[in-house]
Amino acid sequence: MGGGGLESNVSCRNISGRTVWKEIIKAGKIADSTGASFSSSITKCLGNGVSIKFWNDIWFGSERFSTLFHRLYMLETNKDASIAERITHSNGSSVGNWCWTRPPTGRATNEITELNNIVSSVTLSDKQDSWKYNLDPTGIFTTKSLTLLINTPRLGSNALSLSIPRNKLLPQKVYIFIWRAIQKKIPVRLEIDKRGIDLDSTLCPLCELNIETTEHILSSCPKTALIWKLILDWWAQDYSLISNLNDAIINKQPFALSNFGFSIWQATKWITCYIIWKHRNLKVFSKKTWSPGSIISEIQTQSYSWISKRSRKKKSIEWHQWLINPSFFVADTPHRVGFG
Ligand SMILES: [Zn+2]
Repeated sequence: MGGGGLESNVSCRNISGRTVWKEIIKAGKIADSTGASFSSSITKCLGNGVSIKFWNDIWFGSERFSTLFHRLYMLETNKDASIAERITHSNGSSVGNWCWTRPPTGRATNEITELNNIVSSVTLSDKQDSWKYNLDPTGIFTTKSLTLLINTPRLGSNALSLSIPRNKLLPQKVYIFIWRAIQKKIPVRLEIDKRGIDLDSTLCPLCELNIETTEHILSSCPKTALIWKLILDWWAQDYSLISNLNDAIINKQPFALSNFGFSIWQATKWITCYIIWKHRNLKVFSKKTWSPGSIISEIQTQSYSWISKRSRKKKSIEWHQWLINPSFFVADTPHRVGFG
């Protein structure tokens, strides 16, 4: 897992009125009592790390480190330690300042490798830590979103799904896969391990270097990062556009696109996630070779087929034009009509 997490590229709002947030959190607890999961929709954004708990607050990615690195968490002497207590700077880089009840052994050593990687990518600043509200793309709390959450308690624990609109260019199975991925419900090795099923390894089956999390397998694994690089090459876009799961899945208008163009871009990204997962399974269960070239070809062919079949627009994009650079046809300029 590298280069940030779900929140890393989303700007954090520095909330000045802490009492206001106290009131919001209080209201959120009422929402939680209805079965909604409001409290988990507020995440902390890292500043100096003094007021954020290293293990028990969500501050990197979408899970608490106490869950993600549960073996290490068991060895932690101070489970409420702050980030500032656990990350220090040494010779210009960030390093872990660990305090274990005993040195990590066995699988915990895999976790410490992963955790050290994350820690080395974290930079603490002089600013105070801040808060971010996840149910709104702006990060700003609104009573409307709280009402929505209270009124949909069954979806509460899956609150992020509320921010994922349908994309009519996609088959249902792709949408469902994305919906499950966001809720950490695809059976990556870490999730299976957390459910108490004993695995030989929790390492990613593709790179065998890092623990297989949803974020890792769909975005930050070196093997899948290469797929994203090839996708961005194909769309003639900057490589920095997709560096984490948030970039790969959550709605984001990264370059000038018409509404329809955005749907095509989003569909392409979601189909890419779907096909990455399919080939991950083929490698695990059928020992099939991971081949970036053929995976990209499959993404191009499959996305063209699904998107063109579901598009209601009359004019169809030429296959060879789709292959050269789809972004040309979906850009937000009137003379570039693409499918429509
Ligand atoms: Zn990997």
